[in-house]
Amino acid sequence: MQYCDLNSKTAIVTGASRGIGKAIALKLASNGATVVLVSRNEEELNTVKSQIESSNGTAMVIPADVSDSEAFMQLVNSVSESRDSVDILINNAGITRDNLIMRMKDEDWDAVMNVNLKSCYNGIKAVTRPMMKNKGGRIVNISSVIGQIGNAGQGNYAASKAGIIGLTKSMAKELGSRNITVNAVAPGYISTEMTDNLDENVKDKMLASIPLGRLGSGEDVANLVCFLVSENASYITGQTFNVDGGMVMY
Ligand code: NAD
Repeated sequence: MQYCDLNSKTAIVTGASRGIGKAIALKLASNGATVVLVSRNEEELNTVKSQIESSNGTAMVIPADVSDSEAFMQLVNSVSESRDSVDILINNAGITRDNLIMRMKDEDWDAVMNVNLKSCYNGIKAVTRPMMKNKGGRIVNISSVIGQIGNAGQGNYAASKAGIIGLTKSMAKELGSRNITVNAVAPGYISTEMTDNLDENVKDKMLASIPLGRLGSGEDVANLVCFLVSENASYITGQTFNVDGGMVMY
């Protein structure tokens, strides 16, 4: 059996305009899924859609702010109407607004919690009904190693990413009887625009803590996500998997 056969599946990927989300969208599409590309930037999403179509894949673009629960519900409703099912949800959209706690602004705390954590709640709540109707589904939430080990200057980000792990476990327990699996993926240091902005000193320190001695790529994360949403992963739920070159070990 192919490790990730997604023919006839419909997958929603948030934050699909670039970075890890884009890599996941390309991977799922190349394995047969119709991918619904979501982020706030329609132009960037259209570029990803063209890339998918040029490799004979299928994609739809729905611009939305995932921290807005009504917008998320509307997008899921329009996908279930046009595609008849929602099989896969990848909650990937995320932001950073780093600062030491004494300097952190309330709006930076709120923005990070809303975009990173509340969006997962919004998405899971919206897809639950169509997935139950469909007698199953796959949800993957993108957390971070920072949610596991913490980081000075990233209190808001670490809390949001740790929250995703707790939400994942609770949803796995709540939705397991409906054949809906819910897992989290915790990337380490992946080379994307989010990390390209980091200070060189911080980058060097992080590299030194990675046993495999290199940064990860979006594709490294996408390979695992593709397996987790496939039939082959039907007995795996409530888990958090690290894709971090060995940075964090339990
Ligand atoms: P990125 O900044 O390159 O991309 C983020 C994506 O999220 C973009 O498509 C952006 O448009 C979208 N987005 C942001 N706010 C949104 C909103 N309100 N509504 C809809 N879309 C929104 O980031 P990335 O590095 O690709 O990270 C993707 C995910 O992986 C994030 O959740 C991030 O926290 C997590 N992560 C990244 C790393 C890393 O090293 N890059 C490590 C661990 C976890």
